[in-house]
Amino acid sequence: MIIGGGAAAHACIAAYREHGGELSITLVSDDDRLPYFRPHLTKELLTGDISFDEIELEDDDSWYAAQGVDVHLMCRATGIDLPTRTVGTEHGPVPYAALLLATGSRAASLPVPGADDPAIVSVRHAADAARLLDLTADAQPVLVIGSGFVGCEAAASLRSRGLDVTMATTEAAPQVDRLGPATGRLIGGWLSDLGIGFRGGARAAGFERGTDSIRANFAEGPAIEAGTVIVATGATTNVEVAQAAGLAARDAVAVDGSMRTIVPGVFAAGDIADAMHPVAGRRLRVEHWGDAERMGTVAGTVMAGEQAAWTQVPGFWSNIGGRQLKYVAWGDGFDEVRVRPSAEGVTIWYGRDGLCAGILTFEHDEDLAAGDALIAAHAPFRR
Ligand SMILES: Cc1cc2nc3c(=O)[nH]c(=O)nc-3n(C[C@H](O)[C@H](O)[C@H](O)COP(=O)(O)OP(=O)(O)OC[C@H]3O[C@@H](n4cnc5c(N)ncnc54)[C@H](O)[C@@H]3O)c2cc1C
Repeated sequence: MIIGGGAAAHACIAAYREHGGELSITLVSDDDRLPYFRPHLTKELLTGDISFDEIELEDDDSWYAAQGVDVHLMCRATGIDLPTRTVGTEHGPVPYAALLLATGSRAASLPVPGADDPAIVSVRHAADAARLLDLTADAQPVLVIGSGFVGCEAAASLRSRGLDVTMATTEAAPQVDRLGPATGRLIGGWLSDLGIGFRGGARAAGFERGTDSIRANFAEGPAIEAGTVIVATGATTNVEVAQAAGLAARDAVAVDGSMRTIVPGVFAAGDIADAMHPVAGRRLRVEHWGDAERMGTVAGTVMAGEQAAWTQVPGFWSNIGGRQLKYVAWGDGFDEVRVRPSAEGVTIWYGRDGLCAGILTFEHDEDLAAGDALIAAHAPFRR
């Protein structure tokens, strides 16, 4: 039984079958589509390079039936009864021998007046990207609130189609709070090169509807008028079902390196997993596509009766206006940064407690591979 229809869920099915798992599988997802490649939503889909027909993880929908998976779309799991090993769903109760919680995240809401205006959208599901494309077809300019990767990618992709785009964010530069000033300057420069307006230190205070536009007010400084507003202020994990069953503390489900929760037969993977990483030697919770897939693969393999663990250093990539950043890191903080620019790109090294903790590269894949190995080896950070 799998709750969720994202990266971890899909990878779990594939691994379970590949490793000889023979039980039938039920997947419930509250999305209206079969698992798709979520990173496309703010990149190739918004630039117009691909269509919605090209985002599914499986080219052929019959793959699920061939794998013996009974898929329930637009079906929410509502509760887990651990003693009877049953999941309550909107389509009725489903018994399980093994259960994977892979409910991922949703876009964080912006708790300010007027945030429910129909011209305000957050991008998490394919339907959100479709709505954004519809809105921006005739409601411009575009205001992006938030300077995380989702906001930066969406801003750059829409700008590449000639739209007038401004970003407003509490940060002084994109990603500066999470990845430091050098990364902030790098991404900020890219947005500026693309002609995207930027206002830092701007805390959204509310929205007011005008006749043809929406006015975004900020705690300080002038309001900004827009046709469409994208709220990209982070993500919140979908842990309510796990929480009600006593499986989640705060925003995540604690699992061991093999994605097992404390309850036998119950696993968690992807954004909601707070996993003991055997190489890091501590718990990590990350929101990366590749790691959600790796964790789902581990869960499926272990459910099939084999051994596996999440051992890779976590990492992600981001495409911002045709430039690709790559990042590999433990992701839970740094206290030193070393910047190595070159004519082609840049490498930014992150250290913590005197050890290599992360690396971010632009046009330096060779450094990325070396950095990955140094981080995994807990190598000293060279200043
Ligand atoms: C626009 C966007 C772009 C991104 N780009 C990148 C990128 O370039 N690189 C990168 O590394 N990461 C990227 N990410 C992050 C990455 O997509 C996530 O880390 C990854 O999708 C997490 O996978 P998951 O399986 O944990 O959850 P998700 O992919 O979020 O899937 C969870 C699924 O569970 C469903 N669900 C939730 N609750 C229930 C319930 N109660 N019952 C039934 N179904 C439920 C949800 O609807 C969803 O279908 C991006 C994210 C977004 C939103």
